Amino acid sequence: MSKVIAAQIKNILFHDGFIPHKKNAKGSTVIYSRNHPTAKFVRVVVNSGIDAKSGKFAAQPTVKLCYINRKKSWREITTEIFTDPKKLATTIKAQEAAEKFVKTCKYCKAKKFTAKTGNVVCSNACWAAWGGKKKSASPKKKTSQKVAAQKTKAARQKNLQRKPQNFRGKPQKKSSQKKAQKIVAEILPGDLVTVEEIEFEKVTNDYTGSILGVVMKVDNLGRVTTNWSANTSSLPEWDLPSLNHYGSNNRRLYRFKVLSRKAEWAQAV
Ligand SMILES: [Zn+2]
Repeated sequence: MSKVIAAQIKNILFHDGFIPHKKNAKGSTVIYSRNHPTAKFVRVVVNSGIDAKSGKFAAQPTVKLCYINRKKSWREITTEIFTDPKKLATTIKAQEAAEKFVKTCKYCKAKKFTAKTGNVVCSNACWAAWGGKKKSASPKKKTSQKVAAQKTKAARQKNLQRKPQNFRGKPQKKSSQKKAQKIVAEILPGDLVTVEEIEFEKVTNDYTGSILGVVMKVDNLGRVTTNWSANTSSLPEWDLPSLNHYGSNNRRLYRFKVLSRKAEWAQAV
């Protein structure tokens, strides 16, 4: 069986123009790559999950994008996504699409990547040539942005806490006396997802094209772990959905929208 799967993976990669690498510095499986269809210096990199020695399918394939910098070093510019062999072609397409969400260095136009320090920096490290001044100025900026983000978060939480008080004393409407229904959707590992904002069960904002993620895990409580590979919207990370269900009494919220297959939100039975 593992040989059959390996053959299927090889077939997909071969017909999509991928070339096997001679070496895998980090493991025993065969790495494949090819150029991104449009973006210069960007390679689509697939870890086939096929063991180089036995030729057997040994691990879930992964897909990521790398930017080849001026020194020919490969920088990971998107989060490596695990995929089911059956969804390999779809995941490759999704990663290709994620390219336009990867930030570009405004000085040298190279793609940015997340360095080991956690900072998002230019793949060419072109700032290193600027001299000491600018280099020391950048971490400061990051800190102030962080502080601002925390302030916003704190303000939001304050607002949330305040909300119930506003309604205190007001006569209860009939609609609010209705029992809240549990609304669920089938969210599965490997699903490509984006986000939609709903208000009173109506979609008020669709983030297709600006937010993209892949579902990594769904536990038995319906908690969803998502690899958010792209977000060019103004939605902060803490507003991104993390559950496969919600209560119909929620006035406004953000929920998953599955892109890779049909998955509808419906009342739980
Ligand atoms: Zn640069």
